[in-house]
Amino acid sequence: MTSFVVRSSRRTEAIEITDLVERACHQSGISEGLVLVFVPHTTAAVFVNERADPCVARDIMEVLSRLVPEDFPYSHQEGNAPSHVRATLLGASVTLPVRAGKLQLGTWQGIFLAEFDGPRERRVMVVPVEAPGRGP
Ligand code: ZN
Repeated sequence: MTSFVVRSSRRTEAIEITDLVERACHQSGISEGLVLVFVPHTTAAVFVNERADPCVARDIMEVLSRLVPEDFPYSHQEGNAPSHVRATLLGASVTLPVRAGKLQLGTWQGIFLAEFDGPRERRVMVVPVEAPGRGP
């Protein structure tokens, strides 16, 4: 398992991490199997979607901001309750297929860290799971 740190610069922001995950995947030496990308945080998330047009990730973040209102009567009094809810909607991990040592992302797909309570440093863990060898 490897990990890397991403520094966000705004409260809410999608940061593309595809190349960093590719590098971690390559360093792990995995050839065929799965890679788990996990963020050990409660107000950040990861998702896979279009990387070609950065407007798509921005739209996703903007819609999540509107779906989860700031003025809801939350019980959590730390002041970041909507950040927790937004992160939960996307989830803390994605699992991706690896073949011949390469992430099998679609042509337009990229991996994003979703920051909902920045700016701060976030850790991203990359856990390779090599496929078991062919049975007898
Ligand atoms: Zn909180």
